[in-house]
Amino acid sequence: MQGWLKSDKTEKCPYCGKELHYLYMTVMGRNIAEHLEQCDCLGAVRERKKNLNARREEERREAEMRLKAKIDELYRRSKIGRRFIEKSFDNFQATPDNAAALQAARDYAERFELYAEKGLGLMFHFEGYGTGKTHLACAIANHLIREKQVGVIFGNTASLFSDLRELDDIAPMLEELKRVDLLIIDDLGKERPTEWVAEKTYEIINSRYENLKPIIVTTNMTTAEIANHLGKVGGATVSRISEMCRAVMVGGPDMRQKNGWGCRK
Ligand SMILES: [Zn+2]
Repeated sequence: MQGWLKSDKTEKCPYCGKELHYLYMTVMGRNIAEHLEQCDCLGAVRERKKNLNARREEERREAEMRLKAKIDELYRRSKIGRRFIEKSFDNFQATPDNAAALQAARDYAERFELYAEKGLGLMFHFEGYGTGKTHLACAIANHLIREKQVGVIFGNTASLFSDLRELDDIAPMLEELKRVDLLIIDDLGKERPTEWVAEKTYEIINSRYENLKPIIVTTNMTTAEIANHLGKVGGATVSRISEMCRAVMVGGPDMRQKNGWGCRK
């Protein structure tokens, strides 16, 4: 292995005026990779440092842009509405009644990999309306998308399945609901589903069960009520959910009403 050789070609250092040689290497009789030797005067060192910093800054900006594009794409696929993008654990209104639910949600988001590996999810049972269940479910989704770039689909049965019904070919979307890293079904059982929706719900949940893909469910109903609500496939659906999800009970006053943010549905 031959080292760098000094050529006769020179240039003066623009900082100290020292004569610097061009260096080259000979490989199979040809001079290659010619470059000017580095000066170690203060000015030249500073210049090199400045260039290095600029390059690092550029790389950092590019990495940031790639991350932002990835997060945008994850949001686009997630179906999370704009009004829910700002919901976080930090701006959740914690009360003695929902502190345990907040803790469970935060723990789940922060240690998602451990739970996801085993296909484990959560089922939030909320007493009454507006006790923040959509907020908590969104906070989990937002944390996973932003901090871990995990794929999430979020919606209630009405929104998820009305999208599905409008498609000529439902197979790709159905596949996405089965395959996405985390599926969050908000307000399960709120509306009595058609037989078709109930069957598709079961198909998705059963597929996720078989493939150890976690789900999170929020609901105002008991599991018995949900089973009844989903008709023929109700019992089987609830049985899968119960096996996959840790139940978290949440009680407490109606936050929406207390704050005057909207009406009871
Ligand atoms: Zn110099």
